[in-house]
This record gives sequence, structure tokens and C-alpha cells, in this order.
Amino acid sequence: MATGRCQCGAIRYSIHGEPAYSALCHCEDCRRSAGAPMVGWALFAHDMVEVQGEPVAYQSSENATRHFCGKCGTGLFYTNPAIFPGMIDIQTATLDDQAQFPPAIHVQFAESAPWIEQIHDLPKFARYPAD
Ligand SMILES: [Zn+2]
Ligand SMILES: [Zn+2]
Repeated sequence: MATGRCQCGAIRYSIHGEPAYSALCHCEDCRRSAGAPMVGWALFAHDMVEVQGEPVAYQSSENATRHFCGKCGTGLFYTNPAIFPGMIDIQTATLDDQAQFPPAIHVQFAESAPWIEQIHDLPKFARYPAD
């Protein structure tokens, strides 16, 4: 079983089973919605996921709804009956165990940030650079 929650804990969820996929999405909608360069998603059948709390639903395009915590703003779920009927996409960064459901692919890479290919070459600091 996997569990996750928003930052403040008002929305919690548990998952029984394995995702159809786990991916990093680089589309502009995800980027703007999350305020982050990319968003990790894992897709599950709706009946595999139990949600506690009431996320706010925002219809972000014709068939897409994004669900987030109205208190702390954490993005949690994405539903789209046109392309994912009966399924729920979960933002993997909200999983309690970040080792679960690691991404296997990048999607919507055509919309990725222009510097994305260079990020593994950047200097890395365990915390902040000391100077
Ligand atoms: Zn919250
Ligand atoms: Zn996306």
C-alpha cells in the first residue's frame, strides 16, 4: 500500500495496487498549475485510491480537472474522463515514500524548459553553497 498527503495534511490518500504508468510531465499546464518545472504523475484506477478530505476541483481545460488542497495549495490529483476514463492521476511528489512508483518516462517533453537537458551537469550542494 502507498500513502500520501498534501503539505498541511488536510487531504490524505491511500493506494492499493500498481500504477498504469509513472511519468514526469513537462507540459505547460502542469508547469503553471504546480509553479514548478515539471510534475510527476502516476495513473491508477479510481477504485484503487481512497481519498480523505475534500480537495478543491479546478477545471483546467475542456475535459481536465485538477484537484488541490484548498488550505495549503498542494496539487494532488488530475482527472480527465475523455483520455483517462475511470482513472485518477496522482502527483507522485505527494507520496509519503518517494521511493515508490519512480518515474519511468518523460511525457510532453516537447514543452520542457529549454535548460532541462543541462540540469544533471549543475553543481550540487547537500544544502546550500557555503560561502
Ligand atoms: Zn493541505
Ligand atoms: Zn502535464
